[in-house]
Amino acid sequence: MPLYEYRCRACDAAFEILVRAGDTPACRACASPDLERQVSLFAVDSDGTRQAARARSMGTAVTRQRDKDKADVELYERHHH
Ligand SMILES: [Zn+2]
Repeated sequence: MPLYEYRCRACDAAFEILVRAGDTPACRACASPDLERQVSLFAVDSDGTRQAARARSMGTAVTRQRDKDKADVELYERHHH
């Protein structure tokens, strides 16, 4: 389960929250769903490192999507055999 850091656009509170697939996170302070995901993980100094971090992040997103597709197929097959 991924732990994300968010900042609330309504009241400017910052907090970390566990987000399950399909969940809509809400602000802990004011319950607003208008949140901005923080990307502090990639706040690095040099341009080269930043680009590498971005490439890694895109690769990770693709891998996650592929894993999800695989999981969906496995779920489908489990239900149809
Ligand atoms: Zn808030």
